[in-house]
Amino acid sequence: MLFLRSPYIGNRLRSLSLCLMLAFSLGFLSGQLWPSVTAAGCRLEDLTQDPDTHFAGAEPARQAAATTGADSTHASQKLVCLTFDDGPSKNTPAVLEVLERYGVPATFFVIATGYNDEYLPLVRQAREAGHQIALHSASHDYSAIYSSPAAYWEDIDLLRERLSPYVDPDGLTYLRFPGGSTNTVSRKYGGAGIMKELKAQAEEKGYQWVDWNVCGEDAAGEKLSPGEIFKNVVKSTNGQSVCVVLLHDSATTSTTPEALPDIIGWYKEQGYEFCTVEQLYEK
Ligand SMILES: [Zn+2]
Repeated sequence: MLFLRSPYIGNRLRSLSLCLMLAFSLGFLSGQLWPSVTAAGCRLEDLTQDPDTHFAGAEPARQAAATTGADSTHASQKLVCLTFDDGPSKNTPAVLEVLERYGVPATFFVIATGYNDEYLPLVRQAREAGHQIALHSASHDYSAIYSSPAAYWEDIDLLRERLSPYVDPDGLTYLRFPGGSTNTVSRKYGGAGIMKELKAQAEEKGYQWVDWNVCGEDAAGEKLSPGEIFKNVVKSTNGQSVCVVLLHDSATTSTTPEALPDIIGWYKEQGYEFCTVEQLYEK
């Protein structure tokens, strides 16, 4: 497991303060409401306004440069990781099609709520196409997963189990906390220290957890147009040389694949290279 050798295991990708909406609603994920779909997301007050750490972009960039055989003079290489949360879903085929068309890899932080059972085989297709599959949550139910550290890890174990028919669970070593690592919604259920505790435990268990530093805000309650998502990405990129872009692959984010050609084209024009999150951390 490459990341275990990484000196950057403790690095955190910071949450972007402008990112208001992250995830799907508890209603969507509730067995009672299933299969009805209600789009919502984290509220502004759920997120930490000032990230508690800095995004260690320069270090992963150098790591990635090393993997491509570049020497240290390429340390300033511009890199972008497109990441998709909350899939697989009915929109995943459209996302995969665009990624294939433009020949860029991406990372999918997936869920397995029951609602998306029928789409789970798509993670195999994504993996076989060269994308990274990473862990997000089985239930994505904040009140359950953040009720205690034990509940959180039970949910992760369940997710691994549900994914195991489609991808090698040994390769699932990266995770993204629902709401991000600096979310405050978890305090309601598990107390003020729960994220700190979970981050420490993730590292002890050999997981690399990853936030984002660019946000498309595509999971906002109101569906955004492809142009609005594109503008959000451009605006929050804000000159950063290493970008981890938060996008969504959920049942309601159908405009995200439509925004992808412009997003990919723009990053290419700006001289960015695309890689998976895992490649960002590889030696
Ligand atoms: Zn999510």
